[in-house]
Amino acid sequence: MEKEQDLQQKLDTLRQWIGEAQRVVFFGGAGVSTESGIPDFRSVDGLYNQKYDYPPETIISRSFFQHDPETFSRFYRDKLNIFDAQPNAAHKKLAELEREGKLTAVITQNIDGLHQKAGSKRVYELHGTLLRNYCARCRRPYPADYILRTQGVPRCECGGVIRPDIVLYEEGLDDQVMLDSIKAIRAADLLIVGGTSLVVYPAAGLLRYFRGRRLVLINRDATPVDSEADLVIHDSIGKVLGAL
Ligand code: ZN
Repeated sequence: MEKEQDLQQKLDTLRQWIGEAQRVVFFGGAGVSTESGIPDFRSVDGLYNQKYDYPPETIISRSFFQHDPETFSRFYRDKLNIFDAQPNAAHKKLAELEREGKLTAVITQNIDGLHQKAGSKRVYELHGTLLRNYCARCRRPYPADYILRTQGVPRCECGGVIRPDIVLYEEGLDDQVMLDSIKAIRAADLLIVGGTSLVVYPAAGLLRYFRGRRLVLINRDATPVDSEADLVIHDSIGKVLGAL
């Protein structure tokens, strides 16, 4: 955590830079959601969850979904129920900056739809969203809470299994979402990266497309990119953005 005096100084700098910027882009990771009480389901905690014989990254994979949709669906109802979560100060500030015409896009690795809930319109969800479900066989869409309301394996009328519209392990990212994200980052003059350690694909790779003036990193812990940033704040993303 930053010392109070250092934090205030850095906040002043960030305020000034946002004031001077024309096209701010925010790139966010799991840290943005954990502050709304959503656990990082990829985190090691899951490994010690005795209810499952496999680590989360195994369960949330394409092959596991295909071979054991029952355990997959159980895990979904148990661990991916994000419907009561509420946006925090970070989500709200970003939505405000978009309304003011400052912020051009939010690019997120989170799948909980909290940016939209806070009012953001242009949100690129790299890993998809839990707010959409569809049949894995005929692709018919199903309501957001459909899997929660069912038991066992949720099935479509066609017999296919209904799944969330998230990018599972072993699946590729959506091309259009990637292209839109790259385009937004390329055009940005201020890029704020928050709540991510920047070690997971594609986060680190996307930063290479930034050619703007200032790169700001906000994360509780150090990241491999800290030395390349113009401003680094090691603190809570909600606290920092909320204080702007
Ligand atoms: Zn179907």
